[in-house]
Amino acid sequence: MVQLRKWGWMHHLARHCVACFLTRGDLFVHWEKGRDVFERLLIDSDWAINNGNWLWLSCSSFFYQYNRIYSPISFGKKYDPKGNYIRHFLPILKDMPDEYIYEPWTAPLSIQTKAKCIIGRDYPKPVVPHDLASKECRRKMGEAYALNQKLNRLVSEEDLRNLRRKLEEDEDQESNPIRSQRQKLNG
Ligand SMILES: Cc1cc2nc3c(=O)[nH]c(=O)nc-3n(C[C@H](O)[C@H](O)[C@H](O)COP(=O)(O)OP(=O)(O)OC[C@H]3O[C@@H](n4cnc5c(N)ncnc54)[C@H](O)[C@@H]3O)c2cc1C
Repeated sequence: MVQLRKWGWMHHLARHCVACFLTRGDLFVHWEKGRDVFERLLIDSDWAINNGNWLWLSCSSFFYQYNRIYSPISFGKKYDPKGNYIRHFLPILKDMPDEYIYEPWTAPLSIQTKAKCIIGRDYPKPVVPHDLASKECRRKMGEAYALNQKLNRLVSEEDLRNLRRKLEEDEDQESNPIRSQRQKLNG
């Protein structure tokens, strides 16, 4: 997102990662919110391509393999093990050792101090724990898809309202593991 703000452009796969993370991968935010940000910031912004790709990536239409989720940690580790891309766009992390570059919050304090980057002060803690958030998103997507299938792809507005209400109730439960993890991370 820093690259997008600075350059007005980012690579197609980075767009994939962002769109997946915001919607069905981690944050479960409506795809239109991300679409609007891309529309505003992309130098190659194109209404049809942007909408189509957000629909696709969020598994709202055209693509249905919602269980395939980009990991913000392992994806980068695989394609850029030294984290050169991150170091370039986030210079605050430039001295973080390779082994912690994708999960700097796991680095011992002595390493963070040496790298002049204390997580929670110089660089934010993760907004959600990816493992828990992606599992929860998968479950919610599974419920939505099952409902759609059960009703032979004819889901009424009322069904959708009920499903939304159920998902919101789930989120409000105190015992929600993502919420408590998030509180822990931000605490
Ligand atoms: C969430 C999301 C939003 C996007 N929004 C836009 C947008 O607003 N405007 C836009 O032009 N592209 C958009 N794209 C598609 C794609 O990212 C860009 O076209 C691509 O990054 C352009 O890079 P390039 O010129 O190096 O082309 P390359 O990646 O080398 O591809 C060659 C050509 O193929 C076309 N192309 C490649 N992938 C796609 C694709 N998935 N959909 C349509 N055309 C493609 C492009 O026109 C490009 O010029 C979006 C992709 C995602 C995942």
